[in-house]
Amino acid sequence: MFNRFVVDGNVIISPMLITRRLEFDAGHRISTHNSQCRHLHGHRYVIEITLSGDIIADEGVAEQGMVMDFSEVKRIAKTELVDQWDHAFLVFSGDTQVLNFLQTMQDHKTVVFESQPTVENLAITAFRILDAAYQDTYGNQLKLEQVRLFETPNCWADAIRNKC
Ligand SMILES: [Zn+2]
Repeated sequence: MFNRFVVDGNVIISPMLITRRLEFDAGHRISTHNSQCRHLHGHRYVIEITLSGDIIADEGVAEQGMVMDFSEVKRIAKTELVDQWDHAFLVFSGDTQVLNFLQTMQDHKTVVFESQPTVENLAITAFRILDAAYQDTYGNQLKLEQVRLFETPNCWADAIRNKC
């Protein structure tokens, strides 16, 4: 049903990697940090979601020539992750001082984590959420390969399948 993608009759590219970038704003603090990260502050996070899969070769289907429609990559990421974390405060469950404070604010958008909301821990959490969300519905071996999360333009963490 899904043919391997062949270039010039002899170069087989399979699987292909595709990446979609999304951005969101969130607040956090690292309560155990010994410098400025222990203060309440926020970031413009950038998340890059990389999926692997065979290129769909079926004639006539809307996804022909794609691993997954980028709009579908975005839709799933927004629904399952970005819309949950955007304009939220990301707090460690052990940071009771801030957690208790946030709970006094009615309807405040708060996401509680079982570990400090460092960019490394957030990337791993994002990987687990998104790995369950991207399903191979077209039989082309679609799967999440990597989540790259930027905390600043110069600082990021990579959660890579089979490496974390
Ligand atoms: Zn920070």
